[in-house]
Amino acid sequence: MTTSGRHFLQIPGPSNVPDSVLHAIAMPTIDHRGPEFQELFTHVLDGMAAIFHTKNQVVIYPATGTGAWEAALVNTLDPGDEILCYETGHFSSLWAGMAEKWGLKPTVIAGDWRTGADPEKIREALAADTDHRFKAVCVVHNETSTGVTSRIPEIRRAIDDTGHPALFMVDTISSLGSVDYRHDEWGVDVTVSGSQKGLMLPPGLSFNAVSDKALDAHQRSTLPKSVWNWTDMLEAGANGRTPYTPNTNILYGLRESLRLLNEEGLDSVFARHSRYGKATRAAVEGWGLEVLCTNPDEYSPVLTAVIMPDGFDADELRRIILDRFNMSLGAGLSKLAGTVFRIGHLGDLSPLTLAGTLSGVQMGLQLAGVTVDTKGLDAALDILRDG
Ligand code: PLP
Repeated sequence: MTTSGRHFLQIPGPSNVPDSVLHAIAMPTIDHRGPEFQELFTHVLDGMAAIFHTKNQVVIYPATGTGAWEAALVNTLDPGDEILCYETGHFSSLWAGMAEKWGLKPTVIAGDWRTGADPEKIREALAADTDHRFKAVCVVHNETSTGVTSRIPEIRRAIDDTGHPALFMVDTISSLGSVDYRHDEWGVDVTVSGSQKGLMLPPGLSFNAVSDKALDAHQRSTLPKSVWNWTDMLEAGANGRTPYTPNTNILYGLRESLRLLNEEGLDSVFARHSRYGKATRAAVEGWGLEVLCTNPDEYSPVLTAVIMPDGFDADELRRIILDRFNMSLGAGLSKLAGTVFRIGHLGDLSPLTLAGTLSGVQMGLQLAGVTVDTKGLDAALDILRDG
């Protein structure tokens, strides 16, 4: 095992945490009922509203993304409500499974795990639901298990075409801060997100952005809610407070990561991610391997899932790469286990970090016995050089 140099954490989140964010987190914990905290919390609430592109106050939970998924459901729905979920991969399936545990009734539009949520299929399902039984439509923006990014504005248009009143809920856990996203403009009612991907923080914070329509549904919703209750969170937040002890130090980190994102400029951040995606796909295709995502309009700028050639085990490849080059790559999840590996190219990474990552993958493939055309790496370097 190579131990010199930094570990390459090239999984699709948690992503690498910049040194300045780590330093910010190392500040002394302060009184969360004092004025300094009030200023910090108000600042990060405003900063997060700008990242979501929403006029409304957002909710910040001391929990990972799973908590914010649950919050979206329990704050807006009633026991037994029907919802429409689109199966894009592992994470969309987990969200639908969670809804079922809450006694909700998800209808899942089956997907092939290689494309995003199809606006046409959502349109058909909603058009057929003439008594408006579906109370919400749930879609994952960037499906982290497959490297496919769904087209949220097109899905919104499909919902609008049917005149269906369902709430539109979108999971941006692995896209926010890396891929363009506009909560208000795209007409999303609840956006769910998390800290450990594009926001370049450790795991431990998650978010709900909420529309006026979602807030209205919240007033009537009868599912039990305590820790996740928007009313408590929003009332306290409006005063720079939280209803229970916040994870203060990660909030310091959030203040710094927002500063970094704004310093680079969101448009540059998005362009950088899209260039990294393009370079990674050029390498994969140049090697003679196949990218899992089949729709070029839905390629993820955040990660690339690669299909292992027949007869080779993706987990064995990841083991070799970890052992020889001290780099972690993402595993194939659930039905993709062993057949797919995922290269994360999100958050705090430079062109040279990605060049190193792709070099490690190329060498690992060779060590695993896969015949690769080394022009793959050259093709990626051309894109990184010219970008
Ligand atoms: N949704 C997506 C798209 C994810 O990528 C993840 C985690 O990777 C989750 C939900 C679950 O979030 P968490 O693991 O932070 O609870």
